[in-house]
Amino acid sequence: MQKTAASSWGKCLEFIQDNIQPQAYKTWFEPIVPIKLTDTALSIQVPSKFFYEWLEEHYVKLLKIALTQELGEDARLVYIIKMENTLGSKQPFTESIPSSQQSRVLAQNVEAPLSSLNTELKNPFVIPGIRNLQIESQLNPNYNFQNFLEGDSNRLARSAGYAVANKPGGTSFNPLLIFGNVGLGKTHLAHAIGVQIKEKYTDKTVLYISAEKFTQQYIESVKKNTRNDFIHFYQIIDVLIIDDVQFLSGKTGTQDVFFHIFNHLHQNGKQVILTSDKAPVDMQDIEQRLLSRFKWGLSAELQQPDFETRISILKNKLYRDGVVIEEPIIEYVAKNIKSNIRELEGAIISLIAQSSFNKVEITLELAKEIVEKFVKNTKREVSIDYIQKVVSEYFQMDVETLQSKTRKRHIVQARQLAMYFAKKYTKASLASIGSQIGKRDHATVLHACKTVDNLTFTDKQFRKYVEDLNQKLTL
Ligand code: ADP
Ligand code: MG
Repeated sequence: MQKTAASSWGKCLEFIQDNIQPQAYKTWFEPIVPIKLTDTALSIQVPSKFFYEWLEEHYVKLLKIALTQELGEDARLVYIIKMENTLGSKQPFTESIPSSQQSRVLAQNVEAPLSSLNTELKNPFVIPGIRNLQIESQLNPNYNFQNFLEGDSNRLARSAGYAVANKPGGTSFNPLLIFGNVGLGKTHLAHAIGVQIKEKYTDKTVLYISAEKFTQQYIESVKKNTRNDFIHFYQIIDVLIIDDVQFLSGKTGTQDVFFHIFNHLHQNGKQVILTSDKAPVDMQDIEQRLLSRFKWGLSAELQQPDFETRISILKNKLYRDGVVIEEPIIEYVAKNIKSNIRELEGAIISLIAQSSFNKVEITLELAKEIVEKFVKNTKREVSIDYIQKVVSEYFQMDVETLQSKTRKRHIVQARQLAMYFAKKYTKASLASIGSQIGKRDHATVLHACKTVDNLTFTDKQFRKYVEDLNQKLTL
């Protein structure tokens, strides 16, 4: 009978199955697809590069025996790696194969979605694994250490970041968690570390990703049944930077998968860098086992910059943009915008823009106008605690009453309003809102939001409550 890829691989599998644990067989051999057989070379498709490396490391002998039995002494195995484009960019995975092994072939796979890229690797029996995987880092080179100005407010975080950048995985700062309020430089510093590592260690695989995008990719992978590929992909990264991990709050599935990826990376001496808008102790709805891992390394805070640092950040920005503004104006801006570097930059940019569009000089008056708008327009961050306080004060009850289990109508309404405003004014998930307002579940919060919507529509008195509270919260 004529041998085919499927029949030969079937024979190999019989042998392999007899020789390894059922679980290992299921994990590492069932996902393999036989693709083609030419003479003595069998091509098989594996789900990821990690998979290929694993097979090579653990099962290469077994594979060789099986294949030799089936195809003779000259038997050869060719891996085809199927990779998912999980990054959304055009071609995130590029195999870099040393030029001595020129036979880089992109396998045609008509049925594969556009986003998947197949790369054929040469025979692992002859050529050792190709470790030089290149992944688009998603780093922004404009966020670097040179333009991340140092001050008391960021000294610890900056120098920890610097140490990590010079010895990724080799310091006790693993993971390095950078936390602080919005606009204080978390994203900038996280990129700077990655950028520096790429410069110093060109062969290290660095990946920057926001926790939000990570979550989307994960959900996508579950939908497409490629969860394992997702995990394998993240497990081969040397330096993983995840921005805004507070986003994972309440997302148990993503937390779970991240936990496994984290453990794998950490055990293998890979560097993990995280940023968050809260210190680990204040993080809501993040599993305990993850939180405890976050604390393994170093948590470094970015604080509000002091006046001097704000001045030097402004001057540095002006210098880089080639703009000259008089000292008193710079001081005025720095004095009045304190809590957020993004706003500080924003104010100076609109100052420059105003003056050049309207062809007017940059004067202190213009600066005052703009700063005033800035300070007014920037919505104060409203916390769930604050919302509960405002709502319970309004209804003249204390927060414990608002959170209590009672079914008394006016208390239930107050609680529902607090949930509704928490949904409206914070980024917290339904689950997180529920757990902070009297330990309710997400369905209760969802119900509360709907009820408030309905009552606002049908009940005049209730609409007044909503309007009053709205005003108090946005003041
Ligand atoms: P976060 O991620 O904490 O919200 P970003 O990293 O986005 O904040 O920083 C906001 C802006 O402030 C960015 O444009 C960044 O370049 C700038 N910035 C923050 N910290 C510094 C610093 N120490 N020196 C210079 N610019 C800074
Ligand atoms: Mg950020």
